[in-house]
Amino acid sequence: MSSYTRALRWIILLALATGLSPAAAHVASDPPAWVLTSESSLRNSPLRHLPALDRRDSLGTALKLLQLDPAQQHLLTDHVHHHEGRCGGYFAFESRAHAEDFLARERALQSLLGRANADYTIDNAATVESWLPQVTEANIRATIEHLSSYQNRYYSSPHGLDAALWIHDHWAALAAGRSDVQMELFTDCALCSTQPSVILTVTGSELPDEVVVVGAHLDSIRSGAGSNPQQFAPGADDDASGIAVISEVIRIALASGWQPQRSVKFMGYAAEEVGLRGSRAIAERFAADNVNVVGVLQLDMTNYHDAVPYHLHFISDYSNGPLLAFSRELFDVYLGSRGLQRRDLACGYGCSDHASWTATGFPAVMASEPGSQTRAFFPELHTANDTLDQVGGTAQASVTFAWFGLAFIGELAKTAPATDLPALHVDGFESQD
Ligand code: ZN
Repeated sequence: MSSYTRALRWIILLALATGLSPAAAHVASDPPAWVLTSESSLRNSPLRHLPALDRRDSLGTALKLLQLDPAQQHLLTDHVHHHEGRCGGYFAFESRAHAEDFLARERALQSLLGRANADYTIDNAATVESWLPQVTEANIRATIEHLSSYQNRYYSSPHGLDAALWIHDHWAALAAGRSDVQMELFTDCALCSTQPSVILTVTGSELPDEVVVVGAHLDSIRSGAGSNPQQFAPGADDDASGIAVISEVIRIALASGWQPQRSVKFMGYAAEEVGLRGSRAIAERFAADNVNVVGVLQLDMTNYHDAVPYHLHFISDYSNGPLLAFSRELFDVYLGSRGLQRRDLACGYGCSDHASWTATGFPAVMASEPGSQTRAFFPELHTANDTLDQVGGTAQASVTFAWFGLAFIGELAKTAPATDLPALHVDGFESQD
């Protein structure tokens, strides 16, 4: 831990102990929250008898709005995980008024059908092709190993704070010497307790106000553990793998001396597993500030690949049409040409952090692991067995996602012309298969 993050940890913990922080009330036990979930998820869950308000999003999706205490929120999480085979499933709010305001501003229809916020072109192969051979499975594996070595990364536990601060320091080290890179701990999130989101920004040289976002959630959770701050929740696949992929993308892009034309923000989101809290706070801030986000890529669970011929799912619902079409084309140009295959998958309401961006009117897509013949996602997610050992001790499946992430930033943010790039170090290229 750097002296900066060590001091910050003390400030956060001291503020909580003395009641100075608005998050203080959330530490002893998680507070009740107002939850927005799909009518179908609630109807099939043990919570179906609770009083709930009928609502719809701009797509016409039937939703339910209701207040849930922490144990009930965990029941909903467990239901979505066990019976729908996915993570996420709802948005959590600090009050009914916040939830109603969110719905009043909701922009999913605009996000899904809207025009592209920029020209999505594929003409930066010089940069992207120089990066792809540098992706190293061992680096991705090492980050997953480290992040899954914490007792948990639960949003309101001290371990969840320590893991976030480690990601901050890890990314800051990858950016050492770059004056065009800023690190931020995003704490303006009323429901995130002590867990910050982590943001690394590479400022664009030509179009700094046009922003490309690549994100993954940094928290983890254990089904049935409630709010126990000592729950064992290694979360290797969900979603240490996404953070590890982003770390490898940052390493390669910055080590190459890359200067993007547009700004790029890499994000590790707090508190995804308890209602997309960190990503919603950031997306709402960006909407309030009228930030021009040209594309968001979410990477949630990238490391489970068992005997299926494809290598990546694009989540087809709650994704922006033009950006999804562009992402498929990107895949085909850079990964399809290497023999890799993709498939589409619908994931449902509030499936992961891309939903926060979609709901606030920004163009977002999500890429996720290929899974197996019977399971779209790793069956051990949200259990003590979400470990690297369970997938053969390898991060090979995640290499695909680092390649795709590099193609995404290289083509969406482009490369500033006429810079003296240092010589690239290119290791032997290893095929995925
Ligand atoms: Zn996840």
